Amino acid sequence: MELSKKEMAEQLLSLAATDVKRCVQCGRCSATCPAGFKMDLLPSRMVWELVNGNADVMLEAKSPWSCMSCMACEERCPRGVSPARVMEAVRLLAIRQQGGNRLAAENLENYPKDMPQQALVAAFRKYNK
Ligand code: SF4
Ligand code: SF4
Repeated sequence: MELSKKEMAEQLLSLAATDVKRCVQCGRCSATCPAGFKMDLLPSRMVWELVNGNADVMLEAKSPWSCMSCMACEERCPRGVSPARVMEAVRLLAIRQQGGNRLAAENLENYPKDMPQQALVAAFRKYNK
């Protein structure tokens, strides 16, 4: 079922689990982001879009796929907001919309035997909801 813009924004807020309403748009996160030069929407802008419920704009942005999850933005934020988690939330929602429930614990025998446990757990996090 296709989600409405409002439902997508709610999911992004839930996945990001960071209080974006605390953002004062100071721009420190964007200034410190090492991947900012490659981004169409800087971290502070992504936070602003989420505050305003613009999930459609966020899912069309290329920025989340340039983000390296270095957490520098979160580290620099004076308001305790995590733009990194916002980026991750967009990646998760985009992947879930594309693939749905692709992984299931019942099919564990189908996964490579030499797959690192950490990779398996990370994949479950992304694909099984
Ligand atoms: S550093 Fe924090 S308060 Fe400043 S723009 Fe970024 S998210 Fe908002
Ligand atoms: S976590 Fe992503 S958005 Fe934040 S500073 Fe690093 S690359 Fe930039």
